[in-house]
Amino acid sequence: MANNGWKAEVLLPGSWRSATSVLLSSGAHHLVVDGGMAHEAPLLIKALEQRGLKPQDIEGLISTHFHIDHVLNNSLFPHIPIYASQQAHDWACSLYSDLADELNWEKLVLKYYPETFDYDRARQLMGKLRKLGLRLWDPLRVGSPEQFVWIENRPLPEGLGVHLTSGHVPGHLSIVVSNGTEPTIIAGDALLSRDHDDRILTMIPYNRAQFRRDRESILAMRGRILPGHDQPFLVSENHER
Ligand SMILES: [Zn+2]
Repeated sequence: MANNGWKAEVLLPGSWRSATSVLLSSGAHHLVVDGGMAHEAPLLIKALEQRGLKPQDIEGLISTHFHIDHVLNNSLFPHIPIYASQQAHDWACSLYSDLADELNWEKLVLKYYPETFDYDRARQLMGKLRKLGLRLWDPLRVGSPEQFVWIENRPLPEGLGVHLTSGHVPGHLSIVVSNGTEPTIIAGDALLSRDHDDRILTMIPYNRAQFRRDRESILAMRGRILPGHDQPFLVSENHER
């Protein structure tokens, strides 16, 4: 893929209930980072249309991780590479499959969220997200196996860097777009929102201490930050945080 630098723009704005979807463009080359949930498919297509693009014009997808709010429109883009971490993929597939175990899910979930009991409301939240997960998780919408390009073996397209942020889930990717002076960081759920909003409907971190370090490491890059569930913002030299 020829590269004259990537430009990142928001396709679907992130909010407490839906994930940020991002278009990366370099000349006539286009990639999408995280495509949202199935019910957002018409919005995603419309957002592409507004930029003169059709799903067929997209050459690759990047999935920051495989929670349901980020990957269920991958199937709108068949046959193109989906760049992701195999660790994040396998972890999520296994999680959603274990959540379907009616009798044992509360015990099984500790494999994925070992810090569950550190949170007052975690069991309640987990029950709620489990119901959503069981209703919405659909491996067919996540992409077909031959599409996956694992970043464990292959780099992202030229000009894009991986910043591994495993506090949210193991293998979570934040994407660093270096383009001259200030980088753009597509944080995914490593940085949910500018103000650390705890109303955001997502799972607890896999590892809370690492999650805090991930957030700090992204803010320390001082650039334009695209959070997983909030509007983009700039961190400049003297930013208070
Ligand atoms: Zn999310």
